[in-house]
Amino acid sequence: MTLNMLALIIIGVAIGIAIAVFVSWLIIGKRTKKGTEKLASSLQREKTKSDTIINSISDGVVLIDTASVIQLFNPGAMQITGWSANDAVGLDVHTVLKLLDSSEAEYDKANNPFDRALRESTIVKDNTGYLKGQKSRKVAIALTVTPLRNSSEKLIGAVGIIRDVTQERGEEQQRADFISTASHEMRTPVAAIEGYLALAMNDKVSKIDSKAKEYLEKAHASTQHLGKLFQDLLTAAKSEDGRLSNHPVVVEMCATLEQITEDLRFTAEKKGLQVEFVLGSENHKIDARTKSTQVVRPLYYTYVDPERIREVVTNLFDNAVKYTEQGKITVGITGNKDVVQLRVADTGEGISAYDIPHLFQKFYRVDNSATRTIGGTGLGLFICYKIVELYNGRIWVESNLGKGSAFFIDLPRLSGTQAFELQKQEQAATHGGTTTILPKPNHA
Ligand code: ADP
Repeated sequence: MTLNMLALIIIGVAIGIAIAVFVSWLIIGKRTKKGTEKLASSLQREKTKSDTIINSISDGVVLIDTASVIQLFNPGAMQITGWSANDAVGLDVHTVLKLLDSSEAEYDKANNPFDRALRESTIVKDNTGYLKGQKSRKVAIALTVTPLRNSSEKLIGAVGIIRDVTQERGEEQQRADFISTASHEMRTPVAAIEGYLALAMNDKVSKIDSKAKEYLEKAHASTQHLGKLFQDLLTAAKSEDGRLSNHPVVVEMCATLEQITEDLRFTAEKKGLQVEFVLGSENHKIDARTKSTQVVRPLYYTYVDPERIREVVTNLFDNAVKYTEQGKITVGITGNKDVVQLRVADTGEGISAYDIPHLFQKFYRVDNSATRTIGGTGLGLFICYKIVELYNGRIWVESNLGKGSAFFIDLPRLSGTQAFELQKQEQAATHGGTTTILPKPNHA
């Protein structure tokens, strides 16, 4: 083989390889391009789908990053706020969404639902607030802010869903107004009927036979029940829309609770139940009846309306009497430096674990033989809950079916100095500054 022939063969093989590489590059390249195009079009389809959904939702959808800068603002959000997406995207969420709380005060950073969702990394719901739109138009809204995390669980922002609930809120208000007006108007004739029935049963003013008296007593009891129902409906409606009258003052809870217990004692003893007033926790009781100077009764100062607290304790005590056939009702007070804790416990039928989570809901009554025979409205505990909420307190129940129940209330405790300062202000306000100031308490 000559050198020329060898060179020709090598060149031929090289050209062959080059052609093969080129052809396969063409084939693979075409395939890859096809794959990329497919992927791009499927992504485009997904984006179109989610854009269509987000754009057609009537609720506002606002997406922010971790610096609270708006990244997405759908037409629903534009409709509710009056901002265009072009203007809103890129701005701080606080600039665009002026959120107001239920009392129509602007949220501060600590309570703003978007800030809370980012800070606490939890879903924040607010169904009672408002949004101040452009031209100061106020919209009642239901807002849910959900934190967003990437695949490695890192917080990357939050999405807020805003619904205009102006109509629902208006209807709710109308319903509450109707209940308030109706129950207020109906209380007057019911009170009159109750009064006349009482007169009819009074031997000194009416002469009736024993059968008629028995019927009148039943009618009187039912009228009292009806009067209580109207009163509870009125209080419940007021507590829901913030119209419940509330005049907080400094209250030394130990003396107040003892006085309330004494006032209620008779209703329990009439049914053969014992009543005990206890100072201190179950394990560290202080003899409440002691007048000895050796025992220092703690001073439990709180800032509450004493009439509202009387209402709560009376409700709990009345329930304890209603749902206890025999044994004892214990009213107690204890506390630590931050909290004053009241409790009303009984040795009655108790409440099942199934019912406990629902007990403070409006109109909830346990379905058992006792509630079928004992009258009630299912509003008492709801009202208690609403009143305790007014003072940033907490109410809950612990119960053992068949053994009894204990209702607890925690109220924020004032130190002796705080109570003294507040009392000074109260007295200055009532007497135009010329007051006799109580001696400064020594206790915390
Ligand atoms: P009601 O007017 O029916 O008493 P409440 O709101 O005061 O309404 O109480 C709700 C329900 O909780 C009652 O119907 C009763 O079933 C239950 N309950 C409340 N207090 C007690 C108690 N001390 N012992 C047992 N059950 C109770």
